[in-house]
Amino acid sequence: MRLNASTASDILSPINPATGETLASLPVTTPAQLDAAVARAKAAQGDWAALMPVERGRVLRKAADILRARNAELARLETQNTGKPIQETEAVDVLSGADCLEYYAGVAATIAGQHLDLGTGAFGYTRREPLGVVAGIGAWNYPLQIACWKAAPALACGNAMIFKPAEQTPLTAIALAEIFREAGLPEGVFQVVQGQGDLGRALVAHPDIAKVSLTGSVPTGRAVMAAAAPGLKAVTLELGGKSPLIIFADADVDNAVSGAMLANFYSSGQVCSNGTRVFVQRPILAAFLDALAARTARLRVGDPLDPDTQIGPLVSEAQMDLVLGHIARAKTEAVRLVAGGRRLTEGALADGFYVEPTIFEAADDGAAIVRDEVFGPVMTVLGFDDEAEVIARANDTEFGLAAGVFTQDLTRAHRVIARLDAGTCWINQYNVTPVELPFGGVKASGIGRENGAAAIDHYTRIKSVYVAMTPIDCPY
Ligand code: NDP
Repeated sequence: MRLNASTASDILSPINPATGETLASLPVTTPAQLDAAVARAKAAQGDWAALMPVERGRVLRKAADILRARNAELARLETQNTGKPIQETEAVDVLSGADCLEYYAGVAATIAGQHLDLGTGAFGYTRREPLGVVAGIGAWNYPLQIACWKAAPALACGNAMIFKPAEQTPLTAIALAEIFREAGLPEGVFQVVQGQGDLGRALVAHPDIAKVSLTGSVPTGRAVMAAAAPGLKAVTLELGGKSPLIIFADADVDNAVSGAMLANFYSSGQVCSNGTRVFVQRPILAAFLDALAARTARLRVGDPLDPDTQIGPLVSEAQMDLVLGHIARAKTEAVRLVAGGRRLTEGALADGFYVEPTIFEAADDGAAIVRDEVFGPVMTVLGFDDEAEVIARANDTEFGLAAGVFTQDLTRAHRVIARLDAGTCWINQYNVTPVELPFGGVKASGIGRENGAAAIDHYTRIKSVYVAMTPIDCPY
């Protein structure tokens, strides 16, 4: 049973995964309320789209300023609801949401069609128009950031958005709706609905929803795409991954260990783009594993509100059980446990859903722990011999969200990146996602892109206009 969802289907009871304490009791949005919310959004969207783009941008900019001013308070709320260490939420979650709002605040006034020369008798132009009312559906790992990544480009383009946060972590999306109001966003343009998968399904199927942007698991992505098909609705799907992080023997070992730890243990490993298959070239494999194990042993696991804590609990008991299940199965496979592997229950940790940062070394790529997404603090290290071999092994997965390469050889870095099936790549870095760079996956990791100029394509439709400058040359 999911402890953080109430057994009553009409109430959501988000909890603090560090303590098990209930944080709030929220009514689930009913079908009639969903209809009313979509109707309000539809009524408000036209006036919002009719504003000068610079005015829409001003509202987004103000919302960004409010997020920054309230960083400490919102980071604390995010930490209480997700269990992510406050040192992360204060540095990343709220501020990256604010960056996204600020970026699209500036982009709003630059959204433009094209002029097309069609000779002396005509010209053409294209208009970029909003889609109407769009839906955002979020996962629980970056609740506020995901809400901002979806709302900012959607609103900049003149759409209205109905956003459904994950049932476990609705609190900061609700705060974002209040912040938008305070920033001057007209009533109805951004609304949060609360509920479980059923509500997500109803949202996707709603006839007045023009597009759906989901961050979630691969099965949910498939379900959303299938449900969007009868209405031929566009979808953006940010899904799961099992991303490769490739470390060549010429890389600086300590820097590569830093990359691998960030790629696996940030947010207790609950990051979609994590580099969970760490391929290390054999000449440095032993040194890499020694340094990694030593630094992992020093990680401070504990109360996520303590500024010194580096690893907090997983988001829920269900997620912890899932991760412990992957670890238990791995212990029966042909892999070597290098570090961790247990639930932590000492002292105050007993009330929370803590899993030790865990490292396996695998001799080949066949084990389930090497193939399946775990979504917890679990890294697998694999040795490799040469470039062609590691590229083939890196691409041998249904997923294609992200990839990283650590090397000091500039040409090799670009050569390898060009051959990896991944939507988002890093060279000598991992999991950094500046809003300027489009983010998203290929293969089973998703469709479409968030962030950057690319997101504008996904929240607008193109209208082509032919303009005649001479009388019709009519054959009739
Ligand atoms: P889920 O797929 O379970 O849920 C995601 C969201 O979809 C939730 O709001 C959920 O509601 C809702 N939902 C569930 N079923 C449906 C449906 N049939 N139709 C519409 N909406 C539905 O993912 P998690 O929340 O468990 O998040 C973890 C997953 O998300 C991981 O696999 C991870 O890789 C992926 N992820 C991907 C990211 C990316 O950018 N690529 C970023 C972060 C996470 P409810 O909460 O009520 O179940």
